[in-house]
Parts: sequence; C-alpha cells; structure tokens
Amino acid sequence: MKQQIERFDMKRPPIRTRWFLRPLTYLLSVPEVLTHRARIRRIRADGLKPPYVLLCNHNAFLDFKVATKAIWPHRANYVVAIDGFIGREELLRQVGCICKRKFTSDITLVRQLKRVVQNGDVAMIYPEARYSLCGTTAVLPASLGKLCKLLGVPVVTLICHGHHIDSPFWNLHKRGVRPTEAELTVLFTPEELKAASADEVNARIVEAFQYDEYAWQKARGIRVTYPKRAEGLEKVLYQCPACQTEFQMASEGTHLFCKACKKRWELTELGELRAEQGETEFSHIPDWYEWERKNVRREVDAGTYDSGELPVTVRSLPNAKRFLLLGEGTLRHTMNGFTVRGTDADGDPFCMEKSVPSMYSCHIEYEYLGKFGDCVDLNTLEDTWYIYPHDCAFSVTKMALATEELYFADREKAGHPCKPGLA
Ligand SMILES: [Zn+2]
Repeated sequence: MKQQIERFDMKRPPIRTRWFLRPLTYLLSVPEVLTHRARIRRIRADGLKPPYVLLCNHNAFLDFKVATKAIWPHRANYVVAIDGFIGREELLRQVGCICKRKFTSDITLVRQLKRVVQNGDVAMIYPEARYSLCGTTAVLPASLGKLCKLLGVPVVTLICHGHHIDSPFWNLHKRGVRPTEAELTVLFTPEELKAASADEVNARIVEAFQYDEYAWQKARGIRVTYPKRAEGLEKVLYQCPACQTEFQMASEGTHLFCKACKKRWELTELGELRAEQGETEFSHIPDWYEWERKNVRREVDAGTYDSGELPVTVRSLPNAKRFLLLGEGTLRHTMNGFTVRGTDADGDPFCMEKSVPSMYSCHIEYEYLGKFGDCVDLNTLEDTWYIYPHDCAFSVTKMALATEELYFADREKAGHPCKPGLA
C-alpha cells in the first residue's frame, strides 16, 4: 500500500516569490505588525541588500510577519517544515517556501539555498527548527557555520522579542503584548565570513541567538492580565520541584499545581512564579525547565532513561495534502533512541527506528491542531510521523529533553564534546 502514496517532491527548485504575491505577503503581515507596534532595530545594516542569509529565532507565527516587514521590499525564500504546507502546497511554493522534514540532514536543502542566493534573494532560515518551548534559545545545528561559508553572502540575524510572551507555545491564546521588539544585525559581511572559520561563525551565531523571553518581559515591565495565563504551563513544567513527581502537574486560571503533593504556584502578570506556601523553588520559568533537563541528564548518565512502552496513535504525512491515519502501535524512547511499531488498517506492520546519533533534537507539539493531543514528530527523508501517546502518563517535553541529552552524552563519549548551544 505504501509504495502507491504520492510523496512530497522535495527536489523541485525554489520559486522566486511571484510579483503579484509580494504586496500580498506584505499586506497580510502589516495589520498584526502594527497591532503589536513591532519595533525593528537595524545594527550594522546600512546599505544591506540581498542576497543574504537571514537567521531568525522562532517563537510564534508572528515571527514570519515581522521578518516580512524587516526585509521589505526585497523577496525571500523561506525554509518551512512540511506540516506548514498542509493543504496549501502550491500557495506556499508560489510565495517561495522551501520544504524540509525536521531534524533530517538533507543535501537537497543546501542546493535549494544556493539557488536562492544565486537568484539574488534572501534565504530565510529558522535554525532552531521549532518553536521555542519556554521562550529561550533552542539547540542550533552545528552545520550552520559551514552552510553560511558555503553560501558566501552576508549573514544576518533577526532576533524577535515578545512573541513567546504574546503567544507561548504551551498555550497559543494571544495576550496582545506590545510593543514587541526585533533586532536585525549583520553578523558577517562576505569578507568577514571568508576570514572566519566555520567554528568561529557558529560561535558568533550562537552568541547572537541567546534570548530569554521571560527576562525580556520582566525588564520591560510587560504585564499579561489574561485570566487563564497559566493554563498549559504544565506541558513544559512537567515535574514538581517540591516532591519530584513527574507527569502530575496541572493548571487552572493563573495557577500551576502538583496533583501529587498539592503544592500551588501563581503565575504573576510579569511572568514570574510564586509558591502559594513555602519556598518558591523557581520564580523564572526557564530555570525550572533547565532543572528538568538536569534530571533527565542524570538518568541518561546512569543509563536508566526509558519512557516505557507507550500506546500510541500514528498519523503520517507523506505529502502535504493531509495527515493519513497510519494505525495504532507503541512508542518507546530509551538509551538507544526511538522505536515506533504498529499495524496499519490493512494489517501490515509499520516500524520506525531513530538512533541517538541521528537526532540532536526532536520536534514536539502540544494539543496539536487543538484536537489530537500532545505528540512527537519523527522523520525520515520520505516521511513524517506524528505519534500521539494516549491512556498513559507521559511528557513529550521530557522526550525532547532526553533526545538532546542522549545526543550530547553520546557525542561526549565519542570524544566530541558539544559546545554550548550547538549540536
Ligand atoms: Zn508535587
């Protein structure tokens, strides 16, 4: 059955945004950019003209709109994951999107980006490859420096602030944050790029990408008065710092609480957590998240990390038309990576294995499309599987953290210590 399914054509060359769509992309972006009174600061960018590479941080859909304004009137090709193409492949191709399956290495993409630069356009890349889970920098691929040197055009970063606070990944309801801010910075001119090593380029990019949305919120004194502002936070903060229990956190209104020990925290208007009684273990959300990471790393170092065998529903995305229900199965994430097995509607078995060295990070979704729940996204070059655990205690956030920590531990064991921020 699987051989007959049409696959997304990843090799079709990128299209330069059609002239009649360019004003449209701008007009679609302007209202929201105005609503948020987005301020764009330009640093070392006098006389900047395409072609160049634009590396952007990724927190919400608003990122694309601010980027469109930042580069206007020039045109760009955007690297977009396949799920962004669902039901609108032709339109996205016409405005210049290039498709990629997340966290796969893909030489076709390098060829596509070369073409963009030869066309004299902006190659827009979101190297974190997923929305940030709690408004801090996600791991960047170590291949970035090499890619930039290969393209040989100016390397520019666009770092936006306020987009996660406005619409956090764990609860997308828009909070109406304004003003938002962005910095467009020329990191390397072509001459500077030539003089720097790939490692130096990487180091500068990682440095430029350091951001912390909650610190930004506090520094700017931005208040979020949304009465359900804490709802969904347990997706990221899945472990209780008071009793250490996992997967028992919950939220309601402005509160986060642990169902095991009943401890409660309030999320203030300024985005800080405050324990209702006793010690506030972490007032800063990213600190709590990094504490969870350390606990996962401890399991990895002890060789005991194991999600257990979880019942799952698997939906696949061979092309960009729609998700196909592949079937029921099991997911297990261990010291050896991910294993998914199941049986499809025809009674044929399906299986995907992703080893630890094959993935430096992992894309997850919370309450995907508002109806399917939390999932892990695993990819081969030909297929994309969205895997939804059900009827069990689990956290996709923990699996994402474990993917990174397993990868780092593996690299370190092989004598390649990972540099902070880089895979
Ligand atoms: Zn607890």
